[in-house]
Amino acid sequence: MESMQADVLVIGGGLAGLTAAIAARRAGAEVLLVCKRRPGRSGNTLIAAGNLTSLPEHDSVEGLAIDTFGGGREIADPTLVRTLAEGAAEAVDFLQGCGVRLLRVDGRLQARRVPGHSRARTIFPELGAVPVQTAGLTLTLPLLAEARRLGVRFAEGLMVARLARDGERVAGALALDHSGGWLALRARATILATGGGGRLYAGSNNTRDITGDGYSLALAAGAALRDMEFIQFHPAMGLTPVRIILPTTLFGDGAVLRNRYGERFLLKSVTGGEPVAGRDEMSQAIDRELRAGKGIGEGVYLDLSAVPDELATTRYAPLWALLRRRGCDPAQNMPTVGLAVHFFMGGMVIDSHGGSTVPGLYGAGEVCGGVHGANRLGGNALLEAIVFGRRAGARAAAEAEAEGTPVGTFDPPRSGSGPWTVEELTGLRAALRQLLWRHAGVIRSAEGLAAGLAEWRRLDDTYRSWRLAEPVPLFLETGLMLRSARCILLAAQARLESRGAHCREDYPMLDDEWRGHLRIESGVGEGAPDVRFVPQELPE
Ligand SMILES: Cc1cc2nc3c(=O)[nH]c(=O)nc-3n(C[C@H](O)[C@H](O)[C@H](O)COP(=O)(O)OP(=O)(O)OC[C@H]3O[C@@H](n4cnc5c(N)ncnc54)[C@H](O)[C@@H]3O)c2cc1C
Repeated sequence: MESMQADVLVIGGGLAGLTAAIAARRAGAEVLLVCKRRPGRSGNTLIAAGNLTSLPEHDSVEGLAIDTFGGGREIADPTLVRTLAEGAAEAVDFLQGCGVRLLRVDGRLQARRVPGHSRARTIFPELGAVPVQTAGLTLTLPLLAEARRLGVRFAEGLMVARLARDGERVAGALALDHSGGWLALRARATILATGGGGRLYAGSNNTRDITGDGYSLALAAGAALRDMEFIQFHPAMGLTPVRIILPTTLFGDGAVLRNRYGERFLLKSVTGGEPVAGRDEMSQAIDRELRAGKGIGEGVYLDLSAVPDELATTRYAPLWALLRRRGCDPAQNMPTVGLAVHFFMGGMVIDSHGGSTVPGLYGAGEVCGGVHGANRLGGNALLEAIVFGRRAGARAAAEAEAEGTPVGTFDPPRSGSGPWTVEELTGLRAALRQLLWRHAGVIRSAEGLAAGLAEWRRLDDTYRSWRLAEPVPLFLETGLMLRSARCILLAAQARLESRGAHCREDYPMLDDEWRGHLRIESGVGEGAPDVRFVPQELPE
């Protein structure tokens, strides 16, 4: 088997991975970044709208931390929340230092207020010639250039299928190329930056490579996960005339939701409506409207007529132009929007330096849990990727310096007995996505989750009866998907209350007894992972 070696191995080529690679390289480490697709041109960063939480002069670390903790319904890790807020100002400097151009008006960064934030602190990159659908390139291309300039090595088209252990430590990873060839990636420290898991669900706005691999890789390597029941649904996934995600900043800038009768239904559940509602509250309100038959197809109307001209011609100019090209004048016609799985609040347990519960393994970005609790505020995901990418990169580089050459076990996996066809495998993946969408969607119940777990068991039994065969990457990715999906179902089944993005029809109220997180660790052998409730540590 071929092998590659580095001080620091970064897995994932989105904002968290690129940032971590730059930070580790600047700290003097030899860095190898591997990515399932193309670094800088894959993952959710590519399609991110670019809303980035910053810390303008009039703002305070405390203010941002309070909003983030409150927005997360008081169960985020207070230390991580504080770290996020403290890192906001430097994150902006870091981006600009890498050559990212941020949108300015009269020389000043243009900060907008987005729902959940008490201040106008959300800034945006300058789009220039970059299409609005891939706005994230405004961030990744400068970072990619900076990483190359610094001498970070890149390997694209490599899917990590397993983390390698050297005794108690993670000592790198085992990866597969497109043709099924194995590679041992030996490293003194490893940073997981594989993003979230939106594509575990049938309805998602995530890119295709975001299949929740990191949760499964971390769990199998012995690392703990948390908050896996909290899946954020985006309340403004464009359905007609454009199938792109519409920025939630619109809700702070005058946009409102209306049902098929033109009613502003959000006002029934959220006093103050759209400008103050969280994404959890909006998606649950939309879901209820759809169930009551008051939607338009799979969605509801988005009324943009009150968005001021001054914003329609600056910040939203590319979007307005796109809508008009598709025959929808936002001043007169209403596009329709629906729900899509957008973001995973949960993930690998980390400390404030991105360190996991296993030595040698770090994490940054959406693959990690604890920063957002039960619900994420707009702009905080990109901030998280930068703040924790920088910290994980620096700490991993320091640790790598102290470590000897990694040894690790790099045996490729072999399992199962029977043959399968690609159609059967893709059918199984589609069935898994449907079951999560149906049973672990916006509104859940004990009955639905039990049915989901029973269906999951049938799919897992089928998968285990198959042997490792071509196309190997697709086969192994499916195994990772199954393990991550089980964590979501188990955590959603265990939490007997409604909080943030986790809404239980049978436990509709928030319950103080449940103020805390569910920690997931791998069970013995092939058994179900352990799910344990950990009461909340309150912020000082
Ligand atoms: C449509 C959309 C718009 C958004 N807009 C915003 C916004 O405006 N502001 C905001 O704060 N957040 C936004 N978000 C969320 C935000 O974009 C993501 O949380 C963030 O980009 C995640 O960055 P990341 O580096 O952790 O992961 P990603 O950018 O998703 O990158 C993950 C990387 O890991 C690679 N990978 C995955 N599995 C493997 C494997 N097994 N082996 C090797 N490589 C692997 C992928 O190919 C990819 O390169 C948006 C999300 C979506 C879907």
